[in-house]
Amino acid sequence: MQLIDSHAHLTSKALSAQVDGVMRRAHDAGVSHVITIGCDASDAEACVRLANSRSDVYCSIGVHPHEAGKVADGDMDRLARLTDDASVVAIGELGLDYHYDFSDRASQMKVLDLQLSWAAKLDYPLVVHCREAYDDTEAALVEHGFEDRPVVFHCFTGTEDEARRIASNGWRISFTGIVTFKNSTELQAIARAYPDEHLMLETDSPYLSPTPVRHVRPNEPAHVAHTAQFLAKLRGVSIEELAALTSANTRAFFGLP
Ligand SMILES: [Zn+2]
Repeated sequence: MQLIDSHAHLTSKALSAQVDGVMRRAHDAGVSHVITIGCDASDAEACVRLANSRSDVYCSIGVHPHEAGKVADGDMDRLARLTDDASVVAIGELGLDYHYDFSDRASQMKVLDLQLSWAAKLDYPLVVHCREAYDDTEAALVEHGFEDRPVVFHCFTGTEDEARRIASNGWRISFTGIVTFKNSTELQAIARAYPDEHLMLETDSPYLSPTPVRHVRPNEPAHVAHTAQFLAKLRGVSIEELAALTSANTRAFFGLP
């Protein structure tokens, strides 16, 4: 069995000091590769360094909406300098978060706009973070010409209607451990019917440990196996089938070798 964790934060404080152990446990759980996600310019540089030091890690670079208020002059240039690195497979995570509003909305929108103008000229898939901000996120993506380009709404927790709108723009969603939580009934209904050819999995570790390790902190890529197990059962397929399907989809979406 081979799984890929398509979204983790290996450079986060909770995981960065124990990456060797985290990746060993990932391999033991059947996880062959992890895509580690940068959240600001410094983090993106750390992700690229890490991904270059290991054959089992790729990375995505961008500014998370939570960090939008702290973007300094030159940060976009620092990101742009990383673009051609062979370990970079996507741009993001970028987007809007109106649930936490850790950065004010004007900064979030400005930094999203800057990144989309930059990313539109590049040939990379986009990793989007969108929380309670679907209309504005969709409008920004469409304005920058991302209709029918490879875009994934990571850690999707929206409504069936939003999932439909995402699909109609040619975009995708991916599922974290949230889908395994008992009260995630709407999300489970979406995941049950989600098309085979688009299904992708992620941990978003160190956050969001899935059931039955929900109490374990930090979450780590090995735990994507629990989400895979849950989804296999939900969709009535074997874990091997689900693993093969999601790995192939993730490889194709991110253009992994
Ligand atoms: Zn994330």
